Amino acid sequence: GYGSSDLKVDDFSETQEISTKFNELTARMKVLDDSRQEFVSNVSHELKTPLTSMKVLADSLNGQEDVPIELYREFMQDIGGEIERETKIINDLLSLVKMDKSAADLNISQVNMNELLEQILKRLRPIAEKQHVDLVLESFRPVTAEVDEVKITLAITNLIENGIKYNKPDGWVHVSLNADHQFCYLKVSDSGIGIPEESLEHIYERFYRVDKSHSREIGGTGLGLAITQNAILMHRGAIKVFSTVGEGTIFNVRLPLNYIA
Ligand code: ADP
Repeated sequence: GYGSSDLKVDDFSETQEISTKFNELTARMKVLDDSRQEFVSNVSHELKTPLTSMKVLADSLNGQEDVPIELYREFMQDIGGEIERETKIINDLLSLVKMDKSAADLNISQVNMNELLEQILKRLRPIAEKQHVDLVLESFRPVTAEVDEVKITLAITNLIENGIKYNKPDGWVHVSLNADHQFCYLKVSDSGIGIPEESLEHIYERFYRVDKSHSREIGGTGLGLAITQNAILMHRGAIKVFSTVGEGTIFNVRLPLNYIA
């Protein structure tokens, strides 16, 4: 039966358990808080950089008398470039914040993946041509998947855009689409500069860039792959990367054909 001494033992172990859980929770909250603080400080830094450049450019014009019109034009163009960069960072941040919400916010519909890829490639073709990169699509079969079209478009666009951006002149980006009864498989491979082994585990982190100055020149924010990974994980998909420096990179994406809430 339930004697009073039994109750005391139970009470004690329960208190012990609650206290352990509480400590675990506090520790987890601290980790969350730290990573949020780090994110906010990264955001502030990234947003400040273009502003600092603009301030320097504006000050150097304001401080001078009789500035030649050519110099004005040049500095104004640079300021325009910095504004463009600031806008890109803000847009990427907004995309990321949208992705951070729960998967309940997914807007799922039946999407023809072949058509979706054709649309994405059509939009990216001018950028590829400008970089002299050959963009090829290979669809092995008709594929329809239950996905959030906007988010998956963003995820795939980022991968192909990176393949183009981090390429070499006369390089190529190859996109292929396949499926079985359960999953859709997407492969984006490029003949680009590749990613060093030690960087592979970091590329999905917000603001991470292998080569900060090179990536900045190319117009990278370091948010693209964070957005891509979030979108794919929200769909219960998977993403894997293989890369060899100087040879190229392969991203393999797997998405379930049917969305299970
Ligand atoms: P970014 O906006 O800088 O391109 P991403 O999050 O899309 O940011 O990518 C993070 C970093 O990973 C890039 O800065 C780049 O260094 C590296 N990277 C991504 N994709 C590729 C690729 N296909 N080839 C080589 N490096 C890549």
